[in-house]
Amino acid sequence: MNAEMFREDEKKIPVAGEWDVVVVGGGPAGVGAAVAAARAGMKTLVIEQFNCLGGVATAGGHGHISNYEEHTSDGRRIAGGIANEIADRLVEMGVGARNPHAVDFEVEGLKLLLDRMAEEAGVEVLYHTFFCDSIVEDGVIGGIIIQNKTGRQAVYAKRVIDCTGDGDVAYHAGCDYEVGRPTDHKCQPVTLMFTIGGVDMERVNNFRKEYCESHKDEPAPWKLCGVYEKAVKDGNMRRFQTGNMGWWYTPTRPDWLGINFTHVIYIDTTKAEDLTRATIEARKQCYETIDVYRKYIPGMENIYMISTPNTIGLRESRRIMGAYKMTEEDIKSMARFDDTIAYGSFFVDIHAIDGPGMDPTQWHPPAKFKYQIPYRILVPNKIDNLWVAGRCVSCTHVALGSLRVMVPCIGMGQAAGLAAAQSIQNGTTARTVDINKLQADLKASGMILDEDDIATANHFTVNA
Ligand SMILES: Cc1cc2nc3c(=O)[nH]c(=O)nc-3n(C[C@H](O)[C@H](O)[C@H](O)COP(=O)(O)OP(=O)(O)OC[C@H]3O[C@@H](n4cnc5c(N)ncnc54)[C@H](O)[C@@H]3O)c2cc1C
Repeated sequence: MNAEMFREDEKKIPVAGEWDVVVVGGGPAGVGAAVAAARAGMKTLVIEQFNCLGGVATAGGHGHISNYEEHTSDGRRIAGGIANEIADRLVEMGVGARNPHAVDFEVEGLKLLLDRMAEEAGVEVLYHTFFCDSIVEDGVIGGIIIQNKTGRQAVYAKRVIDCTGDGDVAYHAGCDYEVGRPTDHKCQPVTLMFTIGGVDMERVNNFRKEYCESHKDEPAPWKLCGVYEKAVKDGNMRRFQTGNMGWWYTPTRPDWLGINFTHVIYIDTTKAEDLTRATIEARKQCYETIDVYRKYIPGMENIYMISTPNTIGLRESRRIMGAYKMTEEDIKSMARFDDTIAYGSFFVDIHAIDGPGMDPTQWHPPAKFKYQIPYRILVPNKIDNLWVAGRCVSCTHVALGSLRVMVPCIGMGQAAGLAAAQSIQNGTTARTVDINKLQADLKASGMILDEDDIATANHFTVNA
């Protein structure tokens, strides 16, 4: 046997079937894509490696979807369609609380809701299944290869939408891609979320208020940076993080908190070895954090670990280059595009690449900030019948810092799903889709694409 390469024998594998639209990856973008394609009458299949839809929001244990409003404004809603439907339904189910900025929810509730939405739309879902290759002939994708307990199978598709976050399908189809920051291709750190119980929220909030009042000179006193500095000085914490990145509180679980605090740097999220190393290190950080909270934060003396999630949260990996590459200038100048398919409004949220805290490239926008997202960033170069939606779209490293949050990802997915359906109905490709018809149908399904849509959007149901 060759020491470096093993030659796998050529063999025939069964064909699982043929679908109109196959969506690979069932995260926020994949949910938007699959539900939109199925609602448009397409026979639709989602392939997902875990046991639930939702990606980072569920398997990644992150109970917070943002951004529904124009940034720091009076709550003018800029996000509609499936993203808005998810938020409304979480509240209706009694597992979520909404404010203009975001919806906070119980992760288990979102898993149930997304199963329901897929079932109602007629989406076929295949969990516990890993995408492993793309079937490409003459520059056209005709399906994918999957691997699961059943074995290895081919899945034929008229159209494929890559919602893997890492651009796995496009990468295996030979599309061009970029990774990380331009200087050395390093990506944002990864984070294992975790959920704690036994929090006395009133006392924690009082402590936080007093801390903010007495530390007014700190840039973001609500992050309690001084607490962690003291813990490090006392020898009770390694310096993996300098402040809270987020404490996600859901009123339906009043003594629970979802914690965004762990940070592992220099991870290549497309390598299983790196993901394993990151997960083991981040789990240590979770328990170290609980000890620090118990010691230093009044109201947290009796907290306990509820869960770490199925998977570590990835902020960045491959960005698949497409018909247009969205830039930080587009975002910061609040660009408008003729082929817009959704709005984004999140700040440029880049966690420090070389250490704890935030990166110098993070950017906080002015009031009333929002920008349009062009359809062309979903259309990869080289391969026909393929769309990319979510975290792996065609943009720069800095632009991704804003585009990567869940509301725009769901919106990009919805646009890709509908575009795939229309391209089958009209005999077009991703590149030649009738953009006016796509926009009209997106608007008809509740998406907000321009000022007229914003003006006529409903007010929020605010219960938090
Ligand atoms: C720690 C952290 C905190 C965040 N905080 C916020 C926040 O507060 N608000 C917000 O809105 N956003 C937040 N984000 C960003 C947001 O969650 C993600 O960018 C978003 O989920 C991306 O959506 P996606 O569908 O593109 O990818 P993902 O959510 O990563 O989903 C991809 C899906 O594809 C599946 N998949 C991947 N590869 C394969 C394969 N080969 N075979 C089968 N299945 C596969 C995965 O299992 C997953 O379900 C945060 C992200 C992280 C990591």
